[in-house]
Amino acid sequence: NESPAPFMTFQSTCFPPEILREVQQAGFSAPSPIQAQSWPITLKGRDIVAVAKTGSGKTLGYLLPGFILVKNLRNNSRDGPTVLVLSPTRELATQIQDEAVKFGRSSRISSTCLYGGAPKGPQLRDLERGADIVVATPGRLNDILEMRKVSLHQVAYLVLDEADRMLDMGFEPQIRKIVKQVQPKRQTLMFTATWPKEVRKIASDLLTNPVQVNIGNTDQLVANKSITQYVEVISPMEKQRRLDQILRSQEPGSRIIIFCSTKRMCDQLSRNLSRQYGASAIHGDKSQAERDSVLSEFRNGRCPILVATDVAARGLDVKDIRVVVNYDFPTGVEDYVHRIGRTGRAGATGLAYTFFCDQDSKYASDLVKILEGANQSVSQQLRDMAS
Ligand code: ADP
Ligand code: MG
Repeated sequence: NESPAPFMTFQSTCFPPEILREVQQAGFSAPSPIQAQSWPITLKGRDIVAVAKTGSGKTLGYLLPGFILVKNLRNNSRDGPTVLVLSPTRELATQIQDEAVKFGRSSRISSTCLYGGAPKGPQLRDLERGADIVVATPGRLNDILEMRKVSLHQVAYLVLDEADRMLDMGFEPQIRKIVKQVQPKRQTLMFTATWPKEVRKIASDLLTNPVQVNIGNTDQLVANKSITQYVEVISPMEKQRRLDQILRSQEPGSRIIIFCSTKRMCDQLSRNLSRQYGASAIHGDKSQAERDSVLSEFRNGRCPILVATDVAARGLDVKDIRVVVNYDFPTGVEDYVHRIGRTGRAGATGLAYTFFCDQDSKYASDLVKILEGANQSVSQQLRDMAS
């Protein structure tokens, strides 16, 4: 294995003082495992594939070495970005952008964000002002490339964030089109929560002799141990009543995400709940403006219950989500682990309640493995379904 020794402290990274000050101000005591392991590799200029679950601090994992490269290369930001980050959704792209602004400010790193569902005008104006870092969703970036409003010839550091999710969403042709415009002599970083064959293929096409780091066990899906997982074997008819009990037993104002399998169920449930609690729905049929306003109300606490389909499941970094409820079991334990990963972020504890019905029994044995892997108790009912 070519992995160099991890950076156990921020000091050992040799980051410039202005960056060290920012992480200190953020209250971070040490690099997260993915940061500790990936920084020595990326700072050496190597390509990297990092397989790591959400909430593990990947954003700064790639941003901070990117800042250093921007400083070293001293490109003119008006001629195009030095760092390009591709991200699957607008929500994730803006989160990355926020992190880039916050941590890059004192290093005078400029960044801008390009995403669909919003007018191009303001984004083009931001681009004209110049940006060292562009964070973009593949669709919108291609639109803007076609308009010849941005050039990627200076890009020296290309990040594919949540590569598996981008491929799931059908962005592969868009990604390949973009990468063609980036010089082959570049550093490419790929972050992914899972390592299926589609992701392996694009990694072997786009990366040069990468070092791979796996954080946590990636062959076998592992749930965050700081989340307490309750799986309740229940009939579909009991779900609504049990949900009421769970919600009533939470501290008022606790942020809660409820996952359903259909958009219709999402809407219906959020309507029912909003009589008693602040609840709203987020799913693929909502316009971008609606999704934005729902998310900001959820973030600022005005609307503490979010009813969601899996679109909201991956990557969203909302602080202090106390409870995840799987009202409907997802189609597979991989999504289960992603969903419950919305809580217990960055060292906090969380609760996950899951309703498990007869129709879900094909997932029972995988689910038991996940629960056991995270030292959770497993009910006899669930064990019976698994056997
Ligand atoms: P990921 O992209 O892996 O899902 P994020 O980059 O969104 O994770 O990070 C999750 C949260 O952890 C963010 O709020 C981020 O500011 C915080 N974070 C990042 N690095 C550290 C660290 N070294 N120590 C503590 N918290 C961190
Ligand atoms: Mg992320």
